[in-house]
Amino acid sequence: MMPRAQFTVQSSRRTEILDITDEVAARVAEMRVDQGLACVNVAHCTCALYVNENESGLVADTLRLVEEMSRRDDWRHDRIDDNAAAHLAASIIGSSVVLPVAGGRVELGTWQRIMLLEMDGPRRRRVTVQVVADGR
Ligand code: ZN
Repeated sequence: MMPRAQFTVQSSRRTEILDITDEVAARVAEMRVDQGLACVNVAHCTCALYVNENESGLVADTLRLVEEMSRRDDWRHDRIDDNAAAHLAASIIGSSVVLPVAGGRVELGTWQRIMLLEMDGPRRRRVTVQVVADGR
């Protein structure tokens, strides 16, 4: 199997946070790469990926930050698309995360989860997982 996989995530609200850790971990495990780096990317401009705890209060706080950005009514991009805050948050947070792969598995801390932050949903989002094997 090529060390690359894609899957889609369907959001159901304008702003929403979805835990994609299990999906990513399953795809990485299938690739049978012992050691290397996994790049997880979401190929969209109004959606982001980050690694942090999936704790309900923190999830709500993260959504609140994004929603507070969108409460401003003077973003220039809103003149054409009404989703400037989503673009800005995506730029700041980022569209990809890189994680170590060890023993054939993506390595995360005890409380670390891979989270997809939807900011312009509901939409179907495409996630790519690509692993670069350590060639030594
Ligand atoms: Zn836009």
